[in-house]
Amino acid sequence: MSQTFDGGCSCGAVRYRLASAPMITHCCHCSECQRQSGSAFAVNALIESDRVELLAGTPVGVNLPTESGDPHPAIRCGACGTTLWSHYGGRRHVSFVRVGALDGGHGIAPDVHIFTRSKAPWVVLPPGALAFEIYYDMAAVWSAEAMARRAANTPAQA
Ligand SMILES: [Zn+2]
Ligand SMILES: [Zn+2]
Repeated sequence: MSQTFDGGCSCGAVRYRLASAPMITHCCHCSECQRQSGSAFAVNALIESDRVELLAGTPVGVNLPTESGDPHPAIRCGACGTTLWSHYGGRRHVSFVRVGALDGGHGIAPDVHIFTRSKAPWVVLPPGALAFEIYYDMAAVWSAEAMARRAANTPAQA
C-alpha cells in the first residue's frame, strides 16, 4: 500500500486520501453518469471504503436516483456540491471514487469501459480498450489480486 492518492472538492473544504491504488477503475458511459457529472462519462476508481481516509471537512450524503431503483448514496461536499465518491447499490464497503476529483487524477486510467451502449458518439476509445455494451463478468476482468482484495472486503452474509 505504498502508493496513495489525495483528492478534494472544488472549494477545498473536503480533502481525502486513498491509502492505496484502487482495485479496478471504470469509465462509465451510462446516461446517469453523464447527467450527474454534466459530462460524457464518469471515471470511478473502486476501492475498499476503509482505504478512503478523510483529511478535512465533513462530507454529506445524498441519495441519487437510479433506473433500477437500487439505492445509490453519493458523498459530496456540502458547500460546493462536488461529488467525491458513491456507493453503488448501497454497498457501503466499496467506494466508487470520482477520479476527476483526485489531484492529478489522470494518473489513474480506466481499466474497463462500461455502458458503451450510451457512449457519446464523439468519444473514441483507445485501440484495444476493454469495453462492454452494459457490464462485464467480474471473474474474467478483475485481476487475481483485485479479486482477493474484494473477497477480503466483502462483509459476511448475515
Ligand atoms: Zn467543497
Ligand atoms: Zn454510470
